[in-house]
Amino acid sequence: MRFLIKGARIVGPGESFVGDCLVDGETISAVGTDLSNFRDSVDKVFNARGKWLLPGAVDVHVHLEMPFMGTVSQDDYESGTECAVAGGTTSLIDFCLPAQDQTLTDALAVWDEKAANKAYCDYSYHMAITHWDESVKEEVKQIHAHGITSFKVFTAYKGALMIPDDAIFDLMQTVRKLGGLVTAHAVNGDVLNIKAAQFASEGKLTTHYHPLCQPPVAEGESTGRILELGQLADQPAYIVHMTCREAVEELSRARLKGWKSYGETCPQYLLLDDSVYDLPNFEGAKYVLSPPIRKKHDQDALWGALANGIVQTVGTDHVTFNFHGQKDLGKEDFRKIPNGLNGLEERLSLLYTYGVAKGKITENRWVEVCCTNPAKLFGLYPKKGVIAPGSDADLVIFDPQKNSTISAQTHHSKCDSNVYEGFALSGGPSHVFVRGHLSFEDGEFKGVRGRGKFLRRTAAGGPI
Ligand SMILES: [Zn+2]
Repeated sequence: MRFLIKGARIVGPGESFVGDCLVDGETISAVGTDLSNFRDSVDKVFNARGKWLLPGAVDVHVHLEMPFMGTVSQDDYESGTECAVAGGTTSLIDFCLPAQDQTLTDALAVWDEKAANKAYCDYSYHMAITHWDESVKEEVKQIHAHGITSFKVFTAYKGALMIPDDAIFDLMQTVRKLGGLVTAHAVNGDVLNIKAAQFASEGKLTTHYHPLCQPPVAEGESTGRILELGQLADQPAYIVHMTCREAVEELSRARLKGWKSYGETCPQYLLLDDSVYDLPNFEGAKYVLSPPIRKKHDQDALWGALANGIVQTVGTDHVTFNFHGQKDLGKEDFRKIPNGLNGLEERLSLLYTYGVAKGKITENRWVEVCCTNPAKLFGLYPKKGVIAPGSDADLVIFDPQKNSTISAQTHHSKCDSNVYEGFALSGGPSHVFVRGHLSFEDGEFKGVRGRGKFLRRTAAGGPI
């Protein structure tokens, strides 16, 4: 189909202007202040006067159908990508997580199987490195050649996902030669394990103790260490889900020195505080994730870092477990609560409502951290993350006056609860196009299952 979007406020990473966008099939063919001369040659005109036009958002931190702590997360490639599209996200990057005894290639086959013919929007994977030897090192090259150009390490979850510093450094040197990004879940895992065991031995097993096992200093320490290893390997390093002032300080310090250091935060760390862990009736379990929700002053530090360029992206770490039947596995012991919460559908509108509309970030910075920077850092730009001729027609008509309230009753996730239950939104997508295909219109989901394709990514990794 050939169509014209007319009269929208086109919001890009650098500027905003009122104009039109012409789409031919799956690609943007023209953008300008007035493309009325194409009016007669198109199949349809969308009048977007009073609304905004954004590049489809890119969420680079998502887990779909993830096996974890003896159970599997609720949202799979079908419901997860439905959440994404309904919320204005048109590309996502999941994490392929090999088991300790599994090759990267075998793990990739498992993830391809999960994704096959289900997705409503485009997707890719980061490859997690959960063990390290010469054969894994060889496989990294093959995985990279397959278009998976970012690798993830964990400094926590000893015995399951954590690898030691020598392995991280060797991986960084390996990726340095290929081009790409090494990302890290950065919290000192040894500290975490000892503190958790100590609380347990004292019978302190309620959700109140979950955040106390991984204090901000343990996150700051690990963040600094990863960025230093990156600098020593001359390899760009990216810290996922930063939660606190201590982590922001480390990233700021590294960037001031000119290191290729990048960071991501998530809506839950910007909008929630640790009082959630003291909610009655085990409600705190809904918010159990790692790293945990922090204090109000950490929210201020993160908003500041987002506004002034210290933190580059907002992801979600969307991984959902039902309150009934999954989270309650840890009713007697917080260590057994499956970690994770939602955000894939809510991210763009939450950041608009509580960031742009509240004057914490500009509309252009909002687009930058939700759409453009993720695409640039992870090798999807300029195919994704920008409204420009030749780019994929992943587009969101965003209504900055659309009032709604978040609820598990109306969300697209399969999860039985929503950590933003009752949160008011003052704007949201009215139309979402996935490569030119109208997939969401005025609250009605119109996506086509299986339309989403695997994205082979180039080796990016900044600088931004
Ligand atoms: Zn994650």
